[in-house]
Amino acid sequence: MTHTPRRLRPILLAICLLHAACATTTGARALPENPLGWPARALLQVGEAGESSGLPLVRDGGRLVRAVGDLLEAPALMVEGLVVQPGGRFLEGLDRALVGVGSTVTAAVNLPLFFVSPRAVDIGRDSEAMNEALAFIESSAPETWRCGPEDDREMVLPEGTRTEARGKTLVWTFPGGQRRVQAAQESPLMRWMLPANFIAWERSWGFVVPDEAKFLAQDAKSRVTLILHEFIHQEIQMRRWMRGWTLVYWPAYQITFLGTGWRGHWAETHGPHAANCAGNALKGWRSGE
Ligand SMILES: [Zn+2]
Repeated sequence: MTHTPRRLRPILLAICLLHAACATTTGARALPENPLGWPARALLQVGEAGESSGLPLVRDGGRLVRAVGDLLEAPALMVEGLVVQPGGRFLEGLDRALVGVGSTVTAAVNLPLFFVSPRAVDIGRDSEAMNEALAFIESSAPETWRCGPEDDREMVLPEGTRTEARGKTLVWTFPGGQRRVQAAQESPLMRWMLPANFIAWERSWGFVVPDEAKFLAQDAKSRVTLILHEFIHQEIQMRRWMRGWTLVYWPAYQITFLGTGWRGHWAETHGPHAANCAGNALKGWRSGE
């Protein structure tokens, strides 16, 4: 049992307000016939190809290009909201602008550090096992994976979300057609700082591990559980909830950690965003391997 110290409450309240002000609407893409959306479409494709590259500078550059693509899709969605499909699309465009700016700032800050974690770790090879796991979760009752009494989620990820391998990366496709690249990289810095305890650190583009060999030596179920856990940090928390602002994510994470530690932490173990739902959901899953 844990409780939140008084001084943390205003910060958590601010995060909740940010969440409430921005409904989770990151599903739409600009219509193919809308020429305003064409530059964004091109940049998203170029960015995804770059993000999946094994060359560190190309990879980190691809992340920036993709973020700019997100940003450029915002005006296309807003115009569609005014002209073609009144209503939801306009808000979707505003939301995309917020996410696009957050992601672009993050990618621009990260780009000069491309050499820090140069080595890509192959998670693409787990795409089939991941799809089996996602189908298993969709057939499970939410009560089996929710994180505590305040977790009211009906699903871990939108139903029908699936993955495919692209190089060593995993490309996630959501039912609305949006795609997200998840990469894993070996971090010498993480190995040096935290040699024993940590198995992975989430990033806005995926995650880092201290040791590739140790990561790959796990069985498929452990790897898939870890990859899904880290993707919940990346997609559900950093992108959808924090609107791509990892500069908000990390302070919020650390400040809560001072108050609660791991047990009771919103990012890990407790409440409607907690990433531990991945481990809960896959406890009873047996991979085909
Ligand atoms: Zn975690």
